[in-house]
Amino acid sequence: MERALIASIFLLATSSLLCASSRPPSPIIIIDPGHGGKDPGARAHHTKEKDLVLSFSKKLAQSLKKKVKAQVFLTRSNDVFIPLEKRDEIANQRQCDLFLSVHANASKSRQAQGIELYYLNRATDRASEKLANRENEYAPQKLDSSEKILSDLLQAAATEESAELSGIMKASLKNLRKKYSVKKIETKTALFYVLVGAKCPSLLMEVGFLTNPEEVRRLKRPKFQKDFAETVADAIARYLEGRTKSHRDL
Ligand SMILES: [Zn+2]
Repeated sequence: MERALIASIFLLATSSLLCASSRPPSPIIIIDPGHGGKDPGARAHHTKEKDLVLSFSKKLAQSLKKKVKAQVFLTRSNDVFIPLEKRDEIANQRQCDLFLSVHANASKSRQAQGIELYYLNRATDRASEKLANRENEYAPQKLDSSEKILSDLLQAAATEESAELSGIMKASLKNLRKKYSVKKIETKTALFYVLVGAKCPSLLMEVGFLTNPEEVRRLKRPKFQKDFAETVADAIARYLEGRTKSHRDL
């Protein structure tokens, strides 16, 4: 009798343990509003990149909390300077499942426009290289792009997953065109310091060009920021859903 009771308690305990371990933990998403404090990032048309990306990132965090069963953290929630390597440290300490660094672009040409999605790799073109140099301004050291270092970096940086995420994001962002005249959405690669250290799929998104008068006007509108954030959150939800499915299929 007693033995049967102990056996059933043991069974109960192991089955609840099994349940707990088979339930996937809620994913951890880190949103990284670029720059902050002494580092304003790009500046044009009375707009500072650090302010714009913080406002957008907060809206994105809200959308994600509504759409995805995930824990969402910002690397900064006010106007403070955080070194690039510290941003990765925050992501890794939280054991990130996804890291998204949010930036805004600038160009000498007032015509330059569009959303750009970057994952870590050799720069796609000269413009991407220049952009990465600008965004890496506060990096503690220069990135060495020699073959050996680069291949190690890419191996550690979950490049395939990041590329997949950027594809899903690009497809989702096309929905913005139903309401707004967003002319270009591109997926590119470059050596961004902030993407090197995060141990999870990571992207750097340039939300648009502050130097383009039409684009900066749109980017500053709270309604556009909200719609943009919802679209990005949809893409993240789709990416995470696909990931859970492929884990289930294993
Ligand atoms: Zn930036």
